[in-house]
Amino acid sequence: MKQIEKELVIIGGGPAGLAAAVAAYDKGLRDILILERDVALGGILRQCIHNGFGLHRFGEELTGPEYAARYEQQVKERGIPYMTETMVTELRADRTVVARSAAMGIFEIKAGAVILAMGCRERPKGALGIAGTRPAGIYTAGTAQKFVNMKGMMPGKEVVILGSGDIGLIMARRMTLEGARVKAVCELMPYSGGLARNIEQCLNDFDIPLLLSHTVIDIHGKERLEAVTIAKVDERRRPIPGTEQTIPCDTLLLSCGLIPENELTAQAGVPMDRITNGALVDGDRQTEIPGVFACGNVLHVHDLVDYVSEEAAIAGEAAVRFLRGESKKSILVSVKTDGKVRYTVPQILTEAKDTRLYFRVSDVFRGKKIVLKAGDRVLLEKKTVKLAPGEMETVTVKAEWLSELAEGEISISLSD
Ligand SMILES: Cc1cc2nc3c(=O)[nH]c(=O)nc-3n(C[C@H](O)[C@H](O)[C@H](O)COP(=O)(O)OP(=O)(O)OC[C@H]3O[C@@H](n4cnc5c(N)ncnc54)[C@H](O)[C@@H]3O)c2cc1C
Repeated sequence: MKQIEKELVIIGGGPAGLAAAVAAYDKGLRDILILERDVALGGILRQCIHNGFGLHRFGEELTGPEYAARYEQQVKERGIPYMTETMVTELRADRTVVARSAAMGIFEIKAGAVILAMGCRERPKGALGIAGTRPAGIYTAGTAQKFVNMKGMMPGKEVVILGSGDIGLIMARRMTLEGARVKAVCELMPYSGGLARNIEQCLNDFDIPLLLSHTVIDIHGKERLEAVTIAKVDERRRPIPGTEQTIPCDTLLLSCGLIPENELTAQAGVPMDRITNGALVDGDRQTEIPGVFACGNVLHVHDLVDYVSEEAAIAGEAAVRFLRGESKKSILVSVKTDGKVRYTVPQILTEAKDTRLYFRVSDVFRGKKIVLKAGDRVLLEKKTVKLAPGEMETVTVKAEWLSELAEGEISISLSD
């Protein structure tokens, strides 16, 4: 097996991998290699041809491919090496990366540092356990997006969508614009998992009904999907007898959550967060294995790609500091949550510097305060109008608070 050495290996050439590479290069590192299994760089944004990307990062509305192209251009201008059609199949705790490609066969890279940027995948139908037959016409929303936007093929004409995450909402509009009739978007929860702006622009603007607290309980059709039965659910998410309705359709799109692609991460023995399904990281996005960093959707599912780029730049710069022996690893504080705040990233802080905590809440909350505390001492209170699980929130932990704290904990919670 061919063996090579690299200072920094980045697994995944999506927006996270590209932004991490650019940041590492701009910090002076030259020995970088991006490995991407797809035929081109850009990640999932290559198929997201709608606009709305880049408002935070570039101050303008870009499509997904335009946003990805900006970073791809920065990678190419800097001459950062990358390999496409190259799949990483193994990651070891000593930062050995095993990959394979048609050009190189199987090869092994001894890396000084590794950045995990493998993105996420959609929850498949099999994981949902819907009763009924298994005809053609059932796709994940992302697969349908690829068919429509990249292959120019329509999956069907009469559509029901299960799940109101952003991809489902975007696809409700896309299918409508392409001539299909979207009969309903059903959401199991009493609130949408998507961004408020997507509910307005993708459903309300096209009079597509959003049925909250509804799910698909039966699938009909032998060769091709003919109908689905939906039902209202109670507060414990069980279908309520007598509320069933059967909707004729030839297509069911599933948009029921994204799963970070962490098989390699787990294989290397990186400790994980059971809520995010990503690695536990510090403010540098360094995992508990020194020199292994994670960023983007593989770390936690982001609502906006702009935050992915921001986070990836942190990881890229920190990887360079690690390679130069400047990285600090002892835990200063860990961040605890109260359940209403589901998780934070980072979960651990190792340095007394201003650190932005990204978090999501577990339900829709109105008029709550975000409270940051060290023991009984309130560090920060921030009033909010509405918090929803679909939107990522942030607060900044100030360096001066951290430098005054003894080793321990800070907590983040919601209060009235
Ligand atoms: C179907 C779908 C549609 C989406 N639509 C939107 C949207 O409309 N708007 C929005 O803001 N966000 C959307 N997202 C979220 C979007 O994924 C993020 O905003 C952003 O693309 C995340 O960047 P990333 O680099 O972390 O992941 P990705 O863009 O997923 O990139 C990860 C890359 O890693 C590569 N990779 C994975 N494993 C390996 C391996 N073992 N070896 C080599 N390469 C590997 C993948 O091929 C991929 O190119 C969507 C996500 C999905 C899954």
